[in-house]
Amino acid sequence: MKFESEVVHAGDRKRQCAGLPIPATTPIHLGTTFFYNSAETLDRVLGNPEEGFSYARYANPTNTALEELTTCIERGHGSLATASGMSAVQIALQAALTDRPHTVLAAHALYGATVGLLDNVLAPFGVDVKYVDICDLNLLQETVEKLRPGAIFIESISNPLLRVGDIQQIAAIARENGAALVVDNTFATPMLLRPLELGAHIVVHSATKYLAGHGDVLGGIVVSDEQHDAAVHSISRIVGPLLGPFESYLTMRGIKTLALRYERQCTNAHKVAQWLASHPAIERVYYCADPQHPDAATIGRLFAPGLFGAILSFEIRGAGKEDVLAFMNRLKMIVPGTSLGDVHSLLLYPLIASHRNVSPKMRERMGIRENLVRVAAGIEAAGDIMQDLDQALKSA
Ligand SMILES: *Cc1c(COP(=O)(O)O)cnc(C)c1O
Repeated sequence: MKFESEVVHAGDRKRQCAGLPIPATTPIHLGTTFFYNSAETLDRVLGNPEEGFSYARYANPTNTALEELTTCIERGHGSLATASGMSAVQIALQAALTDRPHTVLAAHALYGATVGLLDNVLAPFGVDVKYVDICDLNLLQETVEKLRPGAIFIESISNPLLRVGDIQQIAAIARENGAALVVDNTFATPMLLRPLELGAHIVVHSATKYLAGHGDVLGGIVVSDEQHDAAVHSISRIVGPLLGPFESYLTMRGIKTLALRYERQCTNAHKVAQWLASHPAIERVYYCADPQHPDAATIGRLFAPGLFGAILSFEIRGAGKEDVLAFMNRLKMIVPGTSLGDVHSLLLYPLIASHRNVSPKMRERMGIRENLVRVAAGIEAAGDIMQDLDQALKSA
């Protein structure tokens, strides 16, 4: 089946409720406790040799259906749907480090809370954390050989400058040195690329973004290869950060239209990026379709043909913080919020949001200037997104 069909069908219509016909769409199962007609069956289910539901901290039918769907579209062995993207990142890293040295080598451009998790949550428990430019493969290889990390953590597309590391090469370096490669695939979605097919061990998502897609669910997904799935689930069975049945239902419902939404969002982002490139108020545009993109060769190899992602960033000519805030105030349709991946277009100002706690000097070094904003294209008419940006830029 093609991706467009898998998102519609995978996970549904597997389970029957006694006495009822099979529902075409997985219902919301709110029960926390499950019993069987024979206590012997319950014994086998609780002992785990037999698949089944017993208690909602271990698994829930709605949640499990969503996990089957994400396992299918990310080509994994198994999935865990969690209450937030960050809990997915935490469990993925803990599972990766279970039998490995407690050292994480992470990409130096990462989602802010992921840096917080590494530095403030894991480091105090003895995890050694180092950062590296993952687009410099020689440096990466040298660092991995010296450091011998248990896990390498990267994002498939970095924020907000949209750098793309060569996951295939990074996975090869990880495997040669006994490290697990964990990839946050939130920005790319499995429609653009599938890290497990490229050699990664574990994939994580903030399902809050493209997977759920409508700005009404907070959730996360861990998709693992065969080697790591059991560790992910054994941590989860104890800690219990499972995504609730209602949110699992909404996320499944969202994923059914992922292919339609993401394709439109990518096309919109591409059109807006091309239009902005010749806009007099714009100094520079960052978008993955740009032939001058520093990772253009990697993008050409890894991304699905014709798609370049749904996020673009741009610098407003001569704008300081007050000018950017005034520009944001003038937006009429685009939502000036902190998220991405929703049906509505969103505009984020890194200086006050994702990179708020980064020092000006560090920001400068990262190439994140005061006049840089990021747009996550929605599914609206491309012309309306351009028109809104244009009128807001007019007095910039
Ligand atoms: C939003 C986001 C997260 C965190 O997800 P939550 O659902 O907010 O916990 C992690 N990584 C990336 C790339 C994100 O955009």
